[in-house]
Amino acid sequence: MAVYAHPDDEAFGTGGTIARYASEGVKTYLVCATRGEVGEISDPSLATPETLGQVREGELRCAAETMGVAELIFLDYRDSGMAGTTENQDRRAFINAPADEVIAGLVAIIRRLRPQVIATFEPNGGYGHPDHIAIHQHTVAAFHAAAQAQFRPDLGPSWQPSRLFYTAIPRSFFFEMRRQLQGLGEDTSDFDRFDDPSIGWPDDQVHVRLDVASTVNSKWEALNCHRTQFGPGNLFRRLPEEQVKALMSVEHFALAWPEPQPGSQLSGLFDGLA
Ligand SMILES: [Zn+2]
Repeated sequence: MAVYAHPDDEAFGTGGTIARYASEGVKTYLVCATRGEVGEISDPSLATPETLGQVREGELRCAAETMGVAELIFLDYRDSGMAGTTENQDRRAFINAPADEVIAGLVAIIRRLRPQVIATFEPNGGYGHPDHIAIHQHTVAAFHAAAQAQFRPDLGPSWQPSRLFYTAIPRSFFFEMRRQLQGLGEDTSDFDRFDDPSIGWPDDQVHVRLDVASTVNSKWEALNCHRTQFGPGNLFRRLPEEQVKALMSVEHFALAWPEPQPGSQLSGLFDGLA
């Protein structure tokens, strides 16, 4: 079960993983907190600010079908927008939802679907989007609350998922992408912030490097479902398609629970589980 904030959050970091496990017969579930109502619109012919939520719901349904997701669930909150924007104040914004309400909603889903593993954003949500940070915090809380029989017994019998993972794109990924873009003579100043060792996810805190080459075409198709977000100006369109697919053929996860031994590596999200 993957839990994210906006349609398209799933595609880059976990699209290949979801598609790969689904193709191997694993039931995969995707939970999305909002419909990305205040995201960018790559092409004004695709949506207006008024229709964007509805359009992005359709984009996520397209991506979920492409990846083989068994069930897609919306939590029905509103996109809170980037930090510091007026959208943050909207009373329907996900960041303004009471924590106990969001956690209860997630616990009900976890107890109903009984997932073996759960994946969500790392604590900074990739790049600090307030909704990404919020879904991380609520998912971590719900992961643990679902297992406690005394927590809201009205939401169903307790369920302890075996593992919690964070989707994490390590610093080395950005260095490799910069190297390849430089090879094409592209401007790579966007990437220079990763020279600061405090920016980005440390490579030594990646516990699973999953080879998703077998489903990278589905991942690419899923990304392309998100037309309003993955437009011609997207960063990943700056590399030739074959090159970007090769780069996207490994997905990275950090094991958050149970706490990993230093330096431990797993061959996959279900490695060693019964
Ligand atoms: Zn997002």
